[in-house]
Amino acid sequence: MRLLNPGPVTLTPTVRDALAAPDLCHREVEFFDLQDTLRDGLAAVYDLDTAVWAPIVLSGSGTAAVEAMMASMPGDGARVLVIENGVYGERMTHMAAVHGIDHETLSLAWGEAIDPVILAERLAGADFTHVAVVHHETTTGRLNDLDAIAAVCADADVALLVDAVSSFGAEAIAFGPAVAAVAATANKCLHGAPGAAFVLARRSALTAAKTRALYLDLVSYCDKQDERGTPFTPAIPAFHALAAALAEHASAGGWRARRAYYRALAQRVADGLAELGIQAMLSTQQSSCVLRAYRLPAGVSYHELHDHLKAAGFVIYAGQGGLTDEIFRISTMGDLHDGDVDELIARIAEITAP
Ligand SMILES: *Cc1c(COP(=O)(O)O)cnc(C)c1O
Repeated sequence: MRLLNPGPVTLTPTVRDALAAPDLCHREVEFFDLQDTLRDGLAAVYDLDTAVWAPIVLSGSGTAAVEAMMASMPGDGARVLVIENGVYGERMTHMAAVHGIDHETLSLAWGEAIDPVILAERLAGADFTHVAVVHHETTTGRLNDLDAIAAVCADADVALLVDAVSSFGAEAIAFGPAVAAVAATANKCLHGAPGAAFVLARRSALTAAKTRALYLDLVSYCDKQDERGTPFTPAIPAFHALAAALAEHASAGGWRARRAYYRALAQRVADGLAELGIQAMLSTQQSSCVLRAYRLPAGVSYHELHDHLKAAGFVIYAGQGGLTDEIFRISTMGDLHDGDVDELIARIAEITAP
């Protein structure tokens, strides 16, 4: 099965084999070496200095990393402005509410662009300490303009918390002065297996963190991991897979090469679908390299399209919420190649042909 859903991704044979690495105990040196390899490899993806940025590895899905970031980074007296333009921004608002964090939202329609001027106006004269934003809103495929948002936050002296779950490893992420933490996962653009997630937290911002949860307390993970330890039993097979995936990512040329590869595949999909009269929801300029949303062709329901493609060995992804009857989504993360795209388009042509 070829997975065109936005994670988990189709694994390379090397990463899949790593899942079956020898058993080991998480209180032994072999595990600490593995954990250190991951921490160094994650920081290296964006050339970060681990004296400034703490790579903190967690067991869980991407949501665990985002929630650990949201529950830990805002200190006492923090006030968070959560930007919403899709499901994942709204999920961060839920997290702030669940953890009793003082917050407001800047709510936009799903897929709408975040206007930096409106953000600046919202921050001016207000007492927000943090802004939380999703980098790539997987709901629609929109790549939010992190640089513009970070610049507004830097001007307003507000710390930025970033959900980069579906962009880390394939899009540009500037870890500039406003950025306090970035959360992401193993099984999207890095091509690891589900079960490992991580946060890169600015060490100077971690000192102001607050404990609101036991299992999702970033500071306790960071302290233990800095001493080559771990508070709980980690998802060791997923850690092995992530180590293999990071090695493949680096040797293939890092995030820039992955972005170029994804862009070419996504364009191949868009061009093939355009020939069938299927239009993308957002322009190429507005979209990530990772995933694009397309309008369902007239007279074809999502379920028909899905089931037809599944029978041919492809899993596509539905729209969420109000978009379920309007769009479908194609992610080109994972071990996918031009031939897969060509076969996909040929299969879609079978049910859209007049
Ligand atoms: C996939 C995703 C998540 C987390 O999803 P999990 O199912 O918990 O891995 C969070 N944010 C974004 C933007 C995502 O694409």
